[in-house]
Amino acid sequence: MKQFIPVNTPTLGDREKDYLIDCINSGWISSDGPYVTQFEEAFAKRVGCKFGVAVTNGTAALELSVRALGIGEGDEVIIPTFTIISCALAVVRCGASVVLVDSEPYTWNMDVCAIEACITPRTKAIMAVHIYGLPVDMREITKIAKKHGLFIIEDAAEAIGLSLEGEPCGSFGDLSSFSFYANKHVTTGEGGMVCTNNPDIAEKARYYRNLCFGSRRFVHEDLGWNFRMTNVQAAIGLAQLERLEETIDRKRVMGKRYQAAFESLSSVQLPLDKTSSAENCYWVFGIVLADEFGDNADKVIAQLLEKGIGCRPFFWPMHLQPVFQQVGMFLDSKFPVAERLARRGFYIPSGLGLSDDNIDTVINAVMEILE
Ligand SMILES: *Cc1c(COP(=O)(O)O)cnc(C)c1O
Repeated sequence: MKQFIPVNTPTLGDREKDYLIDCINSGWISSDGPYVTQFEEAFAKRVGCKFGVAVTNGTAALELSVRALGIGEGDEVIIPTFTIISCALAVVRCGASVVLVDSEPYTWNMDVCAIEACITPRTKAIMAVHIYGLPVDMREITKIAKKHGLFIIEDAAEAIGLSLEGEPCGSFGDLSSFSFYANKHVTTGEGGMVCTNNPDIAEKARYYRNLCFGSRRFVHEDLGWNFRMTNVQAAIGLAQLERLEETIDRKRVMGKRYQAAFESLSSVQLPLDKTSSAENCYWVFGIVLADEFGDNADKVIAQLLEKGIGCRPFFWPMHLQPVFQQVGMFLDSKFPVAERLARRGFYIPSGLGLSDDNIDTVINAVMEILE
């Protein structure tokens, strides 16, 4: 049978096993177990924050973030159009309005130069999202937020362990959100976290995470969610966190191997290896087709699949989402950079489980199609 290389394979080791056995032996499988606090504290510290609030997934972390900042009806939040639906969903679900900005053509991150023009008296926050392994210019965003009195929500799900001018991604926002889905640098299968240096925000996040229990148990003054992470998930997360540096190193080695192999291709745009403030950690390795291939990422993905290589298309921009267009949102919006990325971009296998041989197989297949 022909070998198939999936777009992502996580790696789990003996430490994960040991901690899991500990959960089973101790009987702590709910969110009350000791690994949850340990994981929260260790993870928050690693990303430069005082507090961590572990949750069920990254989408929940974003919903909690918006709610913890008190954002609601009548408010506006600026987000990149080129991102995952979770970012827009968190804003819409709390009754606030989404205001979109386009991407930069080379880093694929939100175009920070476009932010100020979007600010109105109703703007409450900027949601900055680090895309595919290169961080957004948080210095610039911090300046804009300070000047206009806005909150920053930093979605660092794709930048776990990455630094920007020596400071960890996740430490720049009023709060930051993370995902521990199976393709993130630290995985708990499903999972997420809100991190912050602000004790009030941390307390609010804990409150909304846990059904808004009041001082008299089972009496509630607000509606929250059950977004609690289990001890079993946190046990895996702690083990994963303990080898985060290795993970990042390996991601970079894989990214550079792809980078070197595809350098000669004139038919594609490759990720930037670094910017003036950060080094790419290649959360995924993205490729954007040049003009000679046109808007045909789907075709190339299908050809790679035929060769046994699993790929994914890039994000589909928020302003083109049927779910929003159906209710009349973003109808006249045009964000040409994000649209181009969406139609021409895809990413190739980038998981930690890839061997060097797998990488070479992927390289040969891509070269055959794109050379
Ligand atoms: C993965 C991801 C999320 C969503 O996380 P889930 O755990 O899948 O809900 C949110 N934002 C970004 C940038 C992500 O990459």
